[in-house]
Amino acid sequence: MRRISIFGATGSIGQSTIDLIRRDREAYDVVALTGGGNIARLAQDAIDLGAKVAVTAYEDRLSELRAALSGTGIEAAAGDAALIEAADREVDWFMSAIVGAAGLAPGLRALRHGKTLALANKESLVTAGPLLMDTAKEQGARILPVDSEHSAVFQGLVGENPAEVERVIITASGGPFRDWSLEQLEGATLEQACKHPSWDMGQRITIDSASMFNKALEIIETKEYFGFSPDQIEVLVHPGSYVHALVGFRDGALMAHLGAPDMRHAIGYALHWPERRDLPVERLDLAKVGQLRFEAPDEIRFPALRLAREVMATGGLAGTVFNAAKEAALDLFIARKIGFPDMARLVERVLTEMSAGVSLRVNALSLETILEADKEARARVFDLKAA
Ligand code: NAD
Ligand code: MG
Repeated sequence: MRRISIFGATGSIGQSTIDLIRRDREAYDVVALTGGGNIARLAQDAIDLGAKVAVTAYEDRLSELRAALSGTGIEAAAGDAALIEAADREVDWFMSAIVGAAGLAPGLRALRHGKTLALANKESLVTAGPLLMDTAKEQGARILPVDSEHSAVFQGLVGENPAEVERVIITASGGPFRDWSLEQLEGATLEQACKHPSWDMGQRITIDSASMFNKALEIIETKEYFGFSPDQIEVLVHPGSYVHALVGFRDGALMAHLGAPDMRHAIGYALHWPERRDLPVERLDLAKVGQLRFEAPDEIRFPALRLAREVMATGGLAGTVFNAAKEAALDLFIARKIGFPDMARLVERVLTEMSAGVSLRVNALSLETILEADKEARARVFDLKAA
């Protein structure tokens, strides 16, 4: 039996992971499941999967979780320290599917055991790419990408020599505002931003897809995970979301990865790697799809893409600041305190301010420096809003 833990188990990726585990229940020994405020879901899944421990991120929800698990023998715990303690329990496969930079510390801890970290939490790589990748190397642990584009690139590289790769193209659906004008974007509402045309995902990544901040994070994620240089990484808008990524080689060949837009593909690939197993995903009927459309991305209407390039050029703590400022600006948009395009404006201002002050080009990044810069960037977003 493979020992596994799922962090962010109650979310969209967590639930898709659990769906795959349930179909082959006997093969897995579930150690820890974690979630946030959805205590009923967390407790029910912990009971169904026979987990050893269930952890909610919220300390004030501990008594509720305890009550839901009473008599089951499953441990209940809450708060950041409990998340770290649960991440410290040795497993063979660890799913990192918390949303946001909050997923970094548990993921780093899980790498200590030198096993496999399935990484959906792209924010870890944006905020602390070198720290995460170096820790994996030092510990002899393996990180497998779970983002659909990065899983696609990973699959496109199997059996290839990375030195022969000329470029990598990650696709973007373009989101609900793909053909909106700048003027229309000014009035975009929360409800409109939460409607994704092709993927069913958590609320935060859905809004990030509408603003293209998700693709901006993914450009940086591609650089940090695979080590390609920024000018090798391209973005292509592909509204159907059938082609997830393409890898281009020095002889001009382009290898594309296609599949239905269903995260169980990328999750299942990381779960069974290096094997391929049957997955309950729709098989593409390309005759029915008929045509594949592609467009160049527009960095004027979606400035997040331009900012990602600037972040990569700056290096050091710029990724940390970019991610944290984006998370804070997204909080404000969700709270209806700022407009849709204000998110990119605030992120750009904080990046400019923090590059002008203390240098972001710090080389050796520790978790402490990263958390400090993260905190400062969030505070600056709220200060700018208040001013
Ligand atoms: P989600 O909002 O549906 O779920 C997030 C999970 O994290 C929940 O279990 C929630 O309780 C937990 N959580 C939230 N804040 C937390 C905190 N501060 N501390 C501890 N736990 C916390 O999100 P999702 O869509 O499943 O995305 C999860 C991660 O996977 C994100 O990094 C996202 O970018 C990435 N991802 C998601 C998809 C997708 O299809 N949903 C695709 C690619 C990558
Ligand atoms: Mg993606």
